[in-house]
Amino acid sequence: MTEIFRIIPIPSAVVQESSAAQASVAQEWEVVQDYAGQGCGQFVVDALQRPLRDLRISVTDRCNLRCTYCMPREAFDKEHAFLQRADLLSFEEIERLAKLFIQLGVQKIRLTGGEPLLRRGIERIIESLAKLNTREGKPVEVALTTNAVLLSQKAQSLKDAGLARITASLDGLSDETFRRMSDSDVSVKTVLDGIAAAQRVGLAPVKVNMVVKRGVNDHEIIPMAGHFRNSGVVLRFIEFMDVGCTNGWRMDDVVPAREILEQINSYYPVRQVDPNYTGEVAERWHYADGSGEVGVIASVTQAFCHECTRARLSTDGKLYTCLFASGGTDLRGPVRLGMTDQVLTNLIAGHWGRRNDRYSQLRHAVTEAPGEKSREKIEMSYIGG
Ligand code: SAM
Repeated sequence: MTEIFRIIPIPSAVVQESSAAQASVAQEWEVVQDYAGQGCGQFVVDALQRPLRDLRISVTDRCNLRCTYCMPREAFDKEHAFLQRADLLSFEEIERLAKLFIQLGVQKIRLTGGEPLLRRGIERIIESLAKLNTREGKPVEVALTTNAVLLSQKAQSLKDAGLARITASLDGLSDETFRRMSDSDVSVKTVLDGIAAAQRVGLAPVKVNMVVKRGVNDHEIIPMAGHFRNSGVVLRFIEFMDVGCTNGWRMDDVVPAREILEQINSYYPVRQVDPNYTGEVAERWHYADGSGEVGVIASVTQAFCHECTRARLSTDGKLYTCLFASGGTDLRGPVRLGMTDQVLTNLIAGHWGRRNDRYSQLRHAVTEAPGEKSREKIEMSYIGG
């Protein structure tokens, strides 16, 4: 029988890189429940009863595009302090932590960033993660989100490594629009070739994310829908979100998912279909003429925090439970101090158990409250999109 445990809060600690610190850290992170040694059947839920099911891992905070809504060039220029190699979780550290997350209920892992295909040897970590099984004994699903710039050359090796699915980002079909959104000289053809390569090698169904910004690329909604109908690709429109502090987000720039759907429906009639699973972030629609599927991710206008089962592991090994978080729990320090699986599992479970965030549902109150506008939020490239 499956038991669900409520976690007793564990105080967080600042890790000092010395062996003397090790003993006191272990003591402070007292094991209140031995999750690592319990065998099968126990999962963790947070303060709002949400289980831990998905893990997103940012494998690099660097990117080869400068999308204005994600890594605007003014903020991510030559002066920006990207993480150094030693700061990044190694593949061995990622694998070890992933196994612990799986013991707590994770079934799907998504590699992201930054641009994950920039991480050298990305296939190696995919290969290790794809060999892992969930607690129910099924293979863990390993997926990846990419801007597809390097996908043509990488698709086959990713597939061979065991990658199950891929999501590519593309915000317009014309080079001009794409340049405005991505602030780069990369051609749309490069991205489309990458998507085609992914389909060819069987990373299907490929999903394509399009972030929609009013007045910048909303004129491309119908061309994009027209392009990907009948292609097997599932196109998903994402509302522009106020992640991080650098993208100059304003509600006026958000095109609500309802409006996007109305536009599509007037050109290509659609009907809604059930989610594939509880907690799926995209609302799914099928073209009435059978030409495929399209989706909307309405994270701003129809927040889905109540169903959020995602944890995020930042490039340098901090655990976050919300895309809009200001702080996380450091796991890299304890890993490098030689903490046991039991201590690490308790840190993860403790952090998840204390979780009561639901930023998107409270967004209006938060962004309108006096003094709250300057609240620091983690950048998406670091926490993993
Ligand atoms: N570099 C990869 C890519 O481009 O897909 C992975 C990282 S990116 C941060 C992951 C996804 O987040 C992309 O689909 C991107 O469009 C989306 N994204 C980034 N900033 C966003 C924002 N402010 N609002 C909505 N979606 C955003």
